[in-house]
Amino acid sequence: MATLANIAVGSQVWVADPVDAWIDGEVLTIDGDEVKVNCTSGKTVTAKVTNVYPKDAEASPCGVDDMTKLAYLHEPGVLQNLHSRYDMNEIYTYTGSILIAVNPFRRLPHLYNAHMMEQYKGAVFGELSPHVFAVADAAYRLMINESVSQSILVSGESGAGKTESTKMLMRYLAYMGGKVAAEGRSIEQKVLESNPVLEAFGNAKTVRNNNSSRFGKFVELQFDQRGKISGAAIRTYLLERSRVCQVSDPERNYHCFYMLCAGPQEDIERYKLSNPRTFHYLNQSNCYELEGVDDSKEYFETRRAMDVVGISTEEQEAIFRVVAAILHLGNIEFAEGTEIDSSLPKDEKSWFHLRTAADLLMCDKTALENSLCQRIIVTRDENITKTLNPEAAVQSRDALAKVIYSRLFDWLVNNINTSIGQDPHSKFLIGVLDIYGFESFKTNSFEQFCINLTNEKLQQHFNQHVFKMEQEEYTKEEINWSYIDFVDNKDILELIEKKPGGIIALLDEACVLPRSTHETFAQKLYQTYKNHKRISKPKLSRTDFTIHHYAGDVTYQTDLFLDKNKDYVIAEHQSLLSVSKCSFVSGLFPILAEDSAKSSKFSSIGTRFKQQLQSLLETLSATEPHYIRCVKPNNLLKPAIFENNNVLQQLRCGGVLEAIRISCAGYPTRRTFDEFIDRFGILAPNVLDGSDEVTVSKNLLEKIGLEGYQNDESYDNLAYCLSNTTALLSLLHKSL
Ligand code: ADP
Ligand code: MG
Repeated sequence: MATLANIAVGSQVWVADPVDAWIDGEVLTIDGDEVKVNCTSGKTVTAKVTNVYPKDAEASPCGVDDMTKLAYLHEPGVLQNLHSRYDMNEIYTYTGSILIAVNPFRRLPHLYNAHMMEQYKGAVFGELSPHVFAVADAAYRLMINESVSQSILVSGESGAGKTESTKMLMRYLAYMGGKVAAEGRSIEQKVLESNPVLEAFGNAKTVRNNNSSRFGKFVELQFDQRGKISGAAIRTYLLERSRVCQVSDPERNYHCFYMLCAGPQEDIERYKLSNPRTFHYLNQSNCYELEGVDDSKEYFETRRAMDVVGISTEEQEAIFRVVAAILHLGNIEFAEGTEIDSSLPKDEKSWFHLRTAADLLMCDKTALENSLCQRIIVTRDENITKTLNPEAAVQSRDALAKVIYSRLFDWLVNNINTSIGQDPHSKFLIGVLDIYGFESFKTNSFEQFCINLTNEKLQQHFNQHVFKMEQEEYTKEEINWSYIDFVDNKDILELIEKKPGGIIALLDEACVLPRSTHETFAQKLYQTYKNHKRISKPKLSRTDFTIHHYAGDVTYQTDLFLDKNKDYVIAEHQSLLSVSKCSFVSGLFPILAEDSAKSSKFSSIGTRFKQQLQSLLETLSATEPHYIRCVKPNNLLKPAIFENNNVLQQLRCGGVLEAIRISCAGYPTRRTFDEFIDRFGILAPNVLDGSDEVTVSKNLLEKIGLEGYQNDESYDNLAYCLSNTTALLSLLHKSL
């Protein structure tokens, strides 16, 4: 913030702007606490002095590769730096040890070739331009030198570039830790090729990203004593199931469906497929093709990648047979049956799809029909068959499609893990996390709730780490500083996770209590948390609730919370598929030891997810973390457009501004003594008396009467606080 002490008529400043967030200009007049600024854009703006920040008039137009080198570490300075770098295709910038990556939305192959990897190999961190390879290299070397496991946490909103960054990290680590395989495929090859397989089944085009991952992923690379990859494990989180049956325009279903429809004639005939426009699960949206993507080529690529990760030809055949079966299932429509509240396939077309689906799943046609149109109610005395009306039959059909697909996805992940193999003797690991960023849409449901819980957890981990690191730095340099408070989100985590009484616990309760609805669940929430400052009831709603997340307020619609929290296979579906003549299909639905009729017993997705997160965080806390914050510069997914407000919002959500604020509280500016004298020596030329640079710097600061700096002869840097930076620059400005 500007104060009257650090700006004067003629100063270069930043002034808040509703459209561009910050615009620059020169101070024309100062009247009380009102400042009149002549902006570069041509307009004249009057603003309160508190909305004006001093601008570093000498900042290089190319920016600096580390934000901590900025003269002013404030919001407009940070933004301007990212922007000017982005304009020059410098998409990476450090903030201390955090790497910020701004999505270029254009291929930059020169950045990622083998030559680049060679360059970063063993280079001192910070010596070369900021890069994902530098982060990967730092993690790798720390692991080798200090024998400590590492993790790289990649975050950002959808389309910001997380998955692409993750792939680059994995490529670099495979390059460093690869070994020539004695026979068959090497582990690192399998790890790398798991990406296209999982993307085919777990990615889809959304409005935010043409290749959006609809699941979270943590890849753990295990290394042996010599730093070679000796095993790996992939954990995935919460695949979006609803997409299998429900696609909104202009999005797409999972890639694999379109690939298969574009597959070779032989497969098309065998699976009785046709144009994707003829399938209900695909034609709810008008988008079938992706710009620059050839689905038939992708199909072969996926099959090839499946070969590499160790999925046999027979298994591949079964996988795509199941994918085709799901498409046919979706085309079964229902009409009223002869009895009241009953249903049957609507017409010959529906019968055809039912027969085909049954053939492909290798199960009995009548059994499939019954499992869609009937429920068996087990009572103490007898089993009663209840028919379903057409709407309920459609729901039953969709539930079947979703459960098959999600089991298929889990099978892929498990199979890849088995094929890659774990190394039980591994000394240390590097984990790479690619997980959905904070989400706040017009309507937010259970998925957003889980996603935002993830982000709260990771934010807590980030805060704790950044704080600790900053403190250690000061201790190392023997700098005095007092501990400052940071925005703690412990209370939100408690609100959600506490057992009993937290939101997830209340939701589980609602799922098992008879006659509970989303209305009673919402009422219970309002009652329990009447005065909680992190949750509130929106005025105009009777079933929504708003959580005040660290990254902003999100209002959740509870309508589908109960449904989506329930994880069970309908007993009829379970018994249908567990006896499929195809061992692949029956393997997806193993008969459980317990009475299988009871398998529709409630199990909570929310609680399981909470446990998965817990275990993830336990893994992470045993590692040294590295952070990559991906930023999406515009929502058009186009190169060369940098929207200030949009970027700022993401920096806020990603905790980057907070991290900056934390370091601002101490002595954020660090310069070598040389640099310092070079720039500010002019303020007191007579101190440049040939003494050593440490003494000269000290004398200079004393001469101009500045306190609030720290130095120690045994260290190379002079660290000073922000108000000093400001004062020094304004002195410089006046002296010129
Ligand atoms: P996220 O995983 O964060 O949702 P992605 O990693 O899928 O986002 O990136 C979205 C798209 O942006 C990619 O499909 C690609 O076109 C583009 N992209 C992202 N990062 C890069 C990069 N480093 N170089 C070139 N293009 C990129
Ligand atoms: Mg992704």
